Amino acid sequence: MSRSENYFLPDFSHIYLESAAKEYEFTNLCLDRFSNSKVVEIPDYKSVFNRPGQDFQTQKRSMKLILAVKKPPFIYKGSNMLQDGGFRNFYYNTPILNCLYNCDYCFLQGMYPSANIVVFVNQDDMEKAVESEIKIRPYLDEPLMLSISYNTDLLAFENILPMTRLWIEYSKTQPDLNLEIRSKSTMFDSISDIESTDQVLLAWTLSPEKVVNKNELDTPPLIKRLKAVQKAIKKGWRVRLCFDPILLYSDWEKDYLDLLNQIKSEISFNEIFDITVGVFRMGQDYFNRIRKTKPESKLYYQKYINDAGVITVSQSDREAVEVFVRENLSGFIPEDRIHFWD
Ligand code: SF4
Repeated sequence: MSRSENYFLPDFSHIYLESAAKEYEFTNLCLDRFSNSKVVEIPDYKSVFNRPGQDFQTQKRSMKLILAVKKPPFIYKGSNMLQDGGFRNFYYNTPILNCLYNCDYCFLQGMYPSANIVVFVNQDDMEKAVESEIKIRPYLDEPLMLSISYNTDLLAFENILPMTRLWIEYSKTQPDLNLEIRSKSTMFDSISDIESTDQVLLAWTLSPEKVVNKNELDTPPLIKRLKAVQKAIKKGWRVRLCFDPILLYSDWEKDYLDLLNQIKSEISFNEIFDITVGVFRMGQDYFNRIRKTKPESKLYYQKYINDAGVITVSQSDREAVEVFVRENLSGFIPEDRIHFWD
């Protein structure tokens, strides 16, 4: 069942506070916000986060918050698992590790030994790294596109910490910086007072309601995400729609056709900046790790191929997805505004 945002908002019974993270503004905000939490000071966040023998899904049911100071690197080049959406200077960073949501297909389950949420409080260091990278980006006549919501859903966190707001405000001080903020959240209201800017791409992942309920645990329902999209467009933001991953199961075409038709009836496609489309894919190490811990999840027991270390669907299935999307969006959005992962 999909739940409302407030219902599952964790109360964080414990906050692990790295000694070096004391006195940062984000730290104080979190400690005020969760004043009933038991605060445990630790020398290094990894002593808690990387502890052996943790069970990701058990921890998901009672996530703890870890406040820490990030050490370099503060910015990373986009990987082949990410879609650059046509931006050639494509990077990501990790202001938060882990997510309030719990999608079945999420690679974070295989990437991290813990489901606890790490917030890096040293925003200044991340900003300085962005400024240095802007200067040496490969294509100097194009902006640096930074995905700030790669290892988390940053906007979902906005009523805990105003990180999305700060990054947007920061981008306005850097003319050569663009941001992609990908989300399933309905928290647009918490940033709707900010003046929109073409430097920021607000990207919503949309899935059929059946997929939301079955595979995107704790995320807001489709209809609420669509409302957030509508509001963002109305306020003048650039909006990207992400059908990523499109999950393949019997009759997937029917559910995704219903999804596209619902979107067509609620949103004018000529107001959408672009669309990204992808299929299930995951590095083989993460996939194998998750598969062992999720015997009940059909997703990890389907037929996949190993494409140079990436577990994904067959080439013919990828082509079927591409044909399906192109056919059903033909005439609604120019073809070159639809980006496919491959
Ligand atoms: S919203 Fe994104 S980061 Fe969060 S659990 Fe789902 S796939 Fe992972």
